[in-house]
Amino acid sequence: MAVTFDVEDPDLPWHNAPSSVTTILDVLGRVGVRATFFLQGRWVDANPDIARAVADAGHAVASHSYSHVDFRQLSSEGVAADLSRARERIANVTGVDPFPYFRLPYGAGSDDLGLRRQLRRLGYRHIGWDVDPKDYEGGQAETVAAAALEGIDTCVSGDEGRDAVVLLHSWPQVTPLALEAFCEVLVGRGARFVAVDDLRSTPALAFPERTNLLHAMSGRVRSLARSG
Ligand SMILES: [Zn+2]
Repeated sequence: MAVTFDVEDPDLPWHNAPSSVTTILDVLGRVGVRATFFLQGRWVDANPDIARAVADAGHAVASHSYSHVDFRQLSSEGVAADLSRARERIANVTGVDPFPYFRLPYGAGSDDLGLRRQLRRLGYRHIGWDVDPKDYEGGQAETVAAAALEGIDTCVSGDEGRDAVVLLHSWPQVTPLALEAFCEVLVGRGARFVAVDDLRSTPALAFPERTNLLHAMSGRVRSLARSG
């Protein structure tokens, strides 16, 4: 499966806190997972050192637009201009060209045929997500971790031959703890993690204790919180 983070909105409190991304980088290093970061160009301009740290840690760097506006509101010239500005800024600051990997702001317009066609014409590959454990809703870490595992399991057992792409965000305070909890379980089960540049198929994973996932995750989150 692929763990992905949207990194955006540098004007909002906490979105700009250096610790939110560096804490995630620490967790990924501990669990040995290579992830994908969809960076907003304007966020990169506001946080060049942290953006560079993401690339230096070896994670895949992808584009999440420059402006983070709903692309359905842009003209086709506006779409092309935003994409190339984002690519230029991200590549310049991180040293990694994010092309062709791109995620629409809010995922908005991912079902818009005209927009999809334009992205394709420009050579971009839009990466949506299969699993949204809603880390942005302010819930508990165990709820987010259990939702991630359940969604991944449903996805990889339901649609063979495809990787489950998990959507997370860099800024919710609950994300690092939830991430560590569900990644530990997956690593323990021998799951294969991929980044956008090597998305392929993942074999199905079995969770015998599936109905008790929330219970299992709450114990794990408690012990991680104690040790960390
Ligand atoms: Zn976003």
